[in-house]
Amino acid sequence: MSVFAVAVDGPAGSGKSSVCRGVASEMGMKYLDTGAMYRAVTWAMLDAHTNVDDSDAVAAAAQRLQITSGTDPDLPTISVNGQDVSEPIRSAAVTEAVSAVSAVPAVRELLVDLQRAEVANAGHVGIVVEGRDIGTVVLPDASVKIFLTADPAVRALRRAKEDSERTQEDVSIAATEAALIARDEKDSTRASSPLTQAEDAIVVDTTNLNLQQVIAEVVSHIKAARES
Ligand code: C5P
Repeated sequence: MSVFAVAVDGPAGSGKSSVCRGVASEMGMKYLDTGAMYRAVTWAMLDAHTNVDDSDAVAAAAQRLQITSGTDPDLPTISVNGQDVSEPIRSAAVTEAVSAVSAVPAVRELLVDLQRAEVANAGHVGIVVEGRDIGTVVLPDASVKIFLTADPAVRALRRAKEDSERTQEDVSIAATEAALIARDEKDSTRASSPLTQAEDAIVVDTTNLNLQQVIAEVVSHIKAARES
């Protein structure tokens, strides 16, 4: 049976997670956050003091990890070797190191296999998958492909607000924007599966839209695809 899968790609802070969770919840679909998987591997590298710039060491250490993703959009979870790491994968240290780890081809192969298995397991309800290479590499035959964008200043503002709500600390918008642009640059220029827009993706610019408006737009594309 082919699974109805929605691929959502886009740069950091474009609103992917909130949009995908909202869409999946509204449509009764499962949800997979592939960024959380790359963050989980990165967290494990930092926890074991593996040098994230040593790609051979990262590739070897990654083989020993069991990454498990919970696909309920209302309560997504992620664990490494049985340990729930949903909170620590959002730390500044992980965010800083994740682009280096996600550029290692062996890490990508491992996680892409897991992602495809999760999609195959989604069953008749279907699944919304968010990331950077979902429409291009992981699920080139996805039923719907969305590419979310927004102006960097707006993305930085949203990300700084999220970070300060989570940490209960002041977060600099300028520093957040600089970090976000640096991460996009690394993610877009790496050799292995860089962040790119699939040719057949629908581009949704969220700069001037609120969350509910973006969810409604994506849901309308899904309904149109389901009916066709
Ligand atoms: O989506 P999020 O910002 O949590 O992703 C964290 C990082 O994981 C990205 O900056 C990117 O380096 C990596 N990533 C990736 N491919 C994906 C999803 C995320 O390389 N499909």
